[in-house]
Amino acid sequence: MTDPLGRLYGAARAFVGATPALAAFRDLPEAPDRADKAPNPVPALVQLARDVPSGAASGAGAALAEAVVGAADRIDWLLTYTEDQVGADFLARYGWFELLGPTGHFRTDDLVAFVAYWGPGLRYPWHRHAAEEVYAVIDGGCVFEAEGRPARAVTAGDTSHHAPWQAHALRTVDQPVLTLALHAGEGLNDVPELLPDRETGAPR
Ligand code: ZN
Repeated sequence: MTDPLGRLYGAARAFVGATPALAAFRDLPEAPDRADKAPNPVPALVQLARDVPSGAASGAGAALAEAVVGAADRIDWLLTYTEDQVGADFLARYGWFELLGPTGHFRTDDLVAFVAYWGPGLRYPWHRHAAEEVYAVIDGGCVFEAEGRPARAVTAGDTSHHAPWQAHALRTVDQPVLTLALHAGEGLNDVPELLPDRETGAPR
């Protein structure tokens, strides 16, 4: 697999292997079937191409950030939420895609690996889902909040684990963030349930 999407998959697999909390959760399969998906660009790609890689990531993270940008125009990017749910600014400066999973660019039935990007100063509201999840920061940084523990600022290589149905939220402050997350268990392709009434801490 030497085309941009194949290189992206290989870089993601290497990043999972090099990130202990991801590797302990699940390995990515070596040679999954590949789907023929049409590209779907989103407005955030302009910023993504400008800001990533930032130079702050190194090793497998830097290689993955570069591979995401290199394949960006072939990816089926998704927004999932509506303007009523998250606001127009959020939709203009964010995007995600299913790299591996039941409906991903690469196919498997029991695991989802997705990549998501947020520009600076955005708040992904509190939400929850049946799938167990581990997020890892590829490049940039953000603040993760999860029910039952204090908010935590994370940067390249850091991770955040969310148990099934554990409410969590993410916000960016002065830099964008590029993340890779794994989902396993029930509800792999379910849209997360947003919890709009929950208070969130002040940005820092
Ligand atoms: Zn989640």
